[in-house]
Amino acid sequence: MVIDGNPKEKESMKAFHQGNRVEGQKLQEEFVAEFREEYKEKDHCSCKKACQYHGNCKECVAIHRAHQEHLPNCMRKMVNQKIKMLSELTEHTVANEIEPPKEVLRRE
Ligand code: SF4
Repeated sequence: MVIDGNPKEKESMKAFHQGNRVEGQKLQEEFVAEFREEYKEKDHCSCKKACQYHGNCKECVAIHRAHQEHLPNCMRKMVNQKIKMLSELTEHTVANEIEPPKEVLRRE
């Protein structure tokens, strides 16, 4: 099961945007039911950092809300896609002004 960009969840959002709340909620619940089943045992967290809160979304999100510096790692792909579109406005020259930080990753 793919979480990021999941087709069923995409369909759910489409239904919500079209004002079809009942269908949106139905599809969303199907997505969540599949998620619960698939990730009963499996690791759902895409974060690669060496972090003691790996996979513990409740505490991970609380930490990020508390320090307010950046988002949980699993959100990066989605947010970077949006930033990339905005970055086109300056022909991605912002890339010349930034350098990604060194990160301590966990062992696979
Ligand atoms: S919220 Fe934190 S713990 Fe949960 S999937 Fe995202 S990075 Fe992992």
